[in-house]
Amino acid sequence: MIRAVRSIALFLVFLPIAAVSADGERSYNGLPYGGVNDTAGWCGTQIRFEQELRAIGYDPEASAFACPEYGPCDNPSTRDDWVPEPSTPLVYIRLAIHVLAHSDGSYPFTTPELVQAAVDSVNQHFLSSRIQLVHVFDQVNATEWRVLSESEIDPMKIATAFDPTRYLNVWLTNVLFGYSFATFPFASGAREPTGGIVMGQNHWSGNHSAFAHEIGHCFGLWHIFHGVDEVTRCGPCYEAVNASDRDLLGDLCSDTPPAPAWYECSNAIGVDSCTGLPWGDSQPENLMGYTPIDCRNLFTPQQGGRMRCWIADVLSGWIAVSQESCCQDRVGDANYADISVMVDAKFITGSCFGRIPCLSEADVNQSGGLDPDCDDITMGDISQLIDYLFITGPTLGLAECL
Ligand SMILES: [Zn+2]
Repeated sequence: MIRAVRSIALFLVFLPIAAVSADGERSYNGLPYGGVNDTAGWCGTQIRFEQELRAIGYDPEASAFACPEYGPCDNPSTRDDWVPEPSTPLVYIRLAIHVLAHSDGSYPFTTPELVQAAVDSVNQHFLSSRIQLVHVFDQVNATEWRVLSESEIDPMKIATAFDPTRYLNVWLTNVLFGYSFATFPFASGAREPTGGIVMGQNHWSGNHSAFAHEIGHCFGLWHIFHGVDEVTRCGPCYEAVNASDRDLLGDLCSDTPPAPAWYECSNAIGVDSCTGLPWGDSQPENLMGYTPIDCRNLFTPQQGGRMRCWIADVLSGWIAVSQESCCQDRVGDANYADISVMVDAKFITGSCFGRIPCLSEADVNQSGGLDPDCDDITMGDISQLIDYLFITGPTLGLAECL
């Protein structure tokens, strides 16, 4: 950890209390927010974040709030220290994926196998950033939340979240409000039960780039169109085509080009109204844009640096135990991260919450499962782990590395 945790509330202490009204307008192109079946507004992360700011008395459109620095990872030189190389060790992040079903357990939105496939897809998107996700599957049997309204979001989260200091919680359900959303690491709820991600079931598809997009927000990424559509037009945070220091504007990454939100798998057409210059290459493949789901597959090096920096800075509790082994990085192979997840699934989520800081040889109950204590992992658990990793996985027969 490179600094103490700092919440938005603390951050705001350092801002001018009297906000200056903004000149110009923000277009919010593509963020009508809340429109059911409105594909343009499918991600509600930004506007919910701004609602939170307003709720604590701050106007995010005030010029004093242009390009605020929420932490050291917003400094490009600090970020650059975290830009990964192909040889950078992977960091494993724990997810708890809560799938809503009816109260009698019927009609869960998806299965453990399909959740594993989704995580595998997302891991392909995050591999170049040297970040991987491991997950625990949790079916929540609650008919009342299987079709979710906005007023039910926090009650559902509070009732069902796994320890938010150790897991990035993700809920998959049908959303009446029409959008999915995540929680920035600099938001006050980032490591609270009310943080995490709500994925609308209609956004859970294809190459799961929408899921990767929301996880990117949790790791500190803005939309790549942030500097054009989500800040004051031509204002102090506006990321013009010919801006000289785009590391300090918009999404704070100079390797993501400025452009408005764009919905085709092609470069944005048109010109920057502040400069009259054409948008040019607008990087339609970037995962933090709004292009079609199967168009998006890229995080840039600087985005990778921001994510790794924010993880180390405030999200280190989410990092799963991982050590190098002969099997590291081989999909379907058991490694220490897998075992950690297994232990979490068996013990942290059950009646023995919080009893296991880490796995050691002494935790293994050699009696074969007879009357194990809460903090014993039994031979039956090991057997289940092997079954899960090798019999049900895509890489049957790689068990020689176990
Ligand atoms: Zn988004």
